[in-house]
Amino acid sequence: MDVKGSEQIIQNHLLDWYSRKKRPLPWRETRDAYKIWVSEIMLQQTQVGKVATYYNNFVNIFPDVTRLARADLDQVLKVWEGMGYYARARNLHKTARIITEYFGGRFPSDIRDILKLPGIGPYTAAAIASIAFDFPAAVLDGNVNRVLSRLTRLSHTPKSSTGKKLLEETALLLLDKKNPGAFNQAMMELGALVCTPRSPDCEHCPVSANCEAYKNSEAGNFPIKAPKRKRPHYIIAAGIIWKDNEILIARRPENGLLGGLWEFPGGKVEKDESIEQAVVREIHEELDVNVSPGERFDVVEHGYTHFSITLNVFHCHYLSGAPKAIGCTAWKWVKPAELALYAFPRANGKVIEKLLAGLLSETP
Ligand code: SF4
Repeated sequence: MDVKGSEQIIQNHLLDWYSRKKRPLPWRETRDAYKIWVSEIMLQQTQVGKVATYYNNFVNIFPDVTRLARADLDQVLKVWEGMGYYARARNLHKTARIITEYFGGRFPSDIRDILKLPGIGPYTAAAIASIAFDFPAAVLDGNVNRVLSRLTRLSHTPKSSTGKKLLEETALLLLDKKNPGAFNQAMMELGALVCTPRSPDCEHCPVSANCEAYKNSEAGNFPIKAPKRKRPHYIIAAGIIWKDNEILIARRPENGLLGGLWEFPGGKVEKDESIEQAVVREIHEELDVNVSPGERFDVVEHGYTHFSITLNVFHCHYLSGAPKAIGCTAWKWVKPAELALYAFPRANGKVIEKLLAGLLSETP
């Protein structure tokens, strides 16, 4: 089923609804491509409510491309801390430097240039180009995929190649070419507020008269889902390595999961080794340092998108060896109170909170 012939009606009803019902979000008050870019990157994997706080803080500290490009990566990661998916922050920083070097600090307006920038895929490029520059590119994110799958009763999963192709064609057909920015935002807002995953409010939907799933009373059956894969689980061992009231922390390689963040050194427990043996081995492999694990200080359960971990953290006594950055990019001895100056992954953050609370309660 398609929506051919109904484009104009759908556009009118959707834009009218959007002008009345849209949420007042800070990035909707600007057409500055830099700020729209920042908000779109933040929104990729973080809920709107949380993004609003981080966005205001981020654009206050880094109000334009040049200011972001001039900042230290550590500073950017610190401002980003708590939002997760740190590759986004690293790419923002890297991209700001590219824009400064190759585009004179002005965000490029041509979608082909935008698409070449690190961390920007077709969705984000279409969002920036349409909202900031009125370029007629249709966005396709999870919300839009769901709305379009229901409007057309799409009989493929949105991630399959046929499903993707049909969704792209439908999105472009429906797009209001004179008002692409508002139309794209209206589609996303409809998916976020009305055409929600579990309980779509079809009775109050501005496009229900043109929705095939609604007409057939089967909104809940779309989009068609692909079978779920099981998330692997890893046991991680890490050490709080003490020497003269200071703790040894290491910085993760930039490319990869949680890249560029600081951590208590450690890693995955291998088959046939105890957690204590894993701490000693991992720390030696990462820093060329010998330690002896003492008491287990904390156990933290944490879930990432593609896997989950049990993080076991031990107080460790430093024995010997001058630290070397072998499996990390940098290391530092820091006082416990200085841990707050560095950006750590969330699971390490929980350990730090417990550690500092314990030290505080011991202070006479
Ligand atoms: Fe979604 Fe229901 Fe609107 Fe169809 S009528 S687009 S299923 S909210």
